Amino acid sequence: MRKVFWSCLALAVTCGAAAAQNATKDAGALTVIRAGSLIDGTSEAAKKNQLIFIRGKRIEKVADAGAAIPTGATVVDLSSATVLPGLIDSHTHIFLWGEDPLKGGYDENILKAGIALRAARATYACRRALEQGFTTIRDLETEGAGYGDVEIKQAIEEGTIPGPRIFGATRGISSSGGYNLEGYAPELAMPKGVQIIDGPVEARKAAREQLDHGADWIKVYMTHRSWVGKKGELVSQPTLTVDELKAIVDEAHGWGKKVACHAYSGIGLQRALDGGCDSIEHGLSLTDANVAQMIKQGIWYCPTIAPYYGDWAPENTPGGQRDRKRASEHEISVQKAAKAGVKTVFGTDIGGIPWTEPMAIEFDYMTRFGFTPMGAIQAATSRAADMLDMPGEIGVIGPGAYADVIAVSGDPLRDINELKKVKFVMHDGAVFKNELASK
Ligand SMILES: [Zn+2]
Repeated sequence: MRKVFWSCLALAVTCGAAAAQNATKDAGALTVIRAGSLIDGTSEAAKKNQLIFIRGKRIEKVADAGAAIPTGATVVDLSSATVLPGLIDSHTHIFLWGEDPLKGGYDENILKAGIALRAARATYACRRALEQGFTTIRDLETEGAGYGDVEIKQAIEEGTIPGPRIFGATRGISSSGGYNLEGYAPELAMPKGVQIIDGPVEARKAAREQLDHGADWIKVYMTHRSWVGKKGELVSQPTLTVDELKAIVDEAHGWGKKVACHAYSGIGLQRALDGGCDSIEHGLSLTDANVAQMIKQGIWYCPTIAPYYGDWAPENTPGGQRDRKRASEHEISVQKAAKAGVKTVFGTDIGGIPWTEPMAIEFDYMTRFGFTPMGAIQAATSRAADMLDMPGEIGVIGPGAYADVIAVSGDPLRDINELKKVKFVMHDGAVFKNELASK
C-alpha cells in the first residue's frame, strides 16, 4: 500500500526528499478533472459536466465541459461520478483507539499502550481519514499522548506518511476531578488524558505552553461526568470556572488561535458560553437561551451525534439511563440549533468510536435530525473552512483553493450514505486513491 501511495504522488508539493524533487519537476504541470456532477461546497445545487483545472497544490479554475484542455495536461475522468471538495472532520482523536469497555475502555489507551504503539495507531488513523475522503481534520487533543499530534502533522507535511491536513489541539485542558484516569486508589498518582489546571494563572500557563509547542486550537473540557437528575434531566459536572476559561481564551485569541469547549449541559455549558469559547463540542442539552447566546456571540456548534448512539449500558442501570437521556436530549438540541441557524460543523469524535468505523456515519445522523444532505455536506466543507479560518482555501472547489478533491459513484444528495463509499481522493493536488479509473 505504501508503494501505491508513492507512485501516486507525482503532483505532491511536500517537503520529503523524493516528493520535493517531484514538486520542482511538476509544479507547473496541469491536471484536469472531468466531473460528471460537481458539489462545490458552497453552491446550493450541484452543477453538471464541469472541468477542474489543477496546477501544483491548487485549483486554477473551474469551467464548463466545453472549455479547451491544453495538450499535455493529465486528464482524470470522473465524468460518471459526483465530485466534491475534500471533507473536513472538525472533531477527531487520532491518538484514541476506541473506548469499548470489553477491551479495557478508555484507560487501556493510556495504561497499556506505549508512545510508539500510540504513534503507529495515529499513523493508521491518519491514513483511514484520508482514504475516506477527509483531507482536513481538527484533532481535539491527544488523550495523554502529549504533543504527538504536532509530530504526526510534521510527518505528514514532510511526506513521510500519508494523512490529512491537521489542526491539532495538543494536550487539552481540564481541572482537578475533571478528567480520566480516575477511580484508582487515591495514593496513586495516575496519568491524566489532559493537562490539569486549577486557577486562572495555571490555566493561562497551560495555554501558553500548548501554544508554544504548536497547538493550532486549545481544547477545554467544561463538563466531565454526567447523570440523570432527580427530575429526569441530564446533569453534567462543571469543571473550569469562567475566570479560568477567560484566561485561556484571552491567551489563545492573543495568539490568533481559537478555543474548543467540550460542554454537555447546564452550569458548565453556560460557563463555556460566558467565558467566550469559539466552538461548543457535543452540546447535548441546549436551552433556547443557550442557542440565542451562541447566535449572538457567533459560537460554532460541533454536535458529534454518532458516538451517543453506540455502546449504551443496559437499560435498567444508571449508566444505561444516562446514555439514553444523552441521545434523546441531543436529538432535540441538534434540531433546535439547525432550525435557529446556529453555525454548525460536522464532527465524528472518531477515536472514541474505533477508527475502523466509517466516519461518514455522522452524515446519516445529521440528515435524520434536521439537516438537508447539502447542509450536512456544507457542514463538512465550506462551513468548517470558515471555522478554521481558511474560507476559499479548503472545503470548496474553486479558483485558488487547495486541490483537495474527492468523488463518489452515486449521488449523495439522494443517498447521503454514498459518502461512506468515497472512490477517489486527491489531497494537495496528489492523487491518493482512484477506484474510478477507466482502465
Ligand atoms: Zn472528543
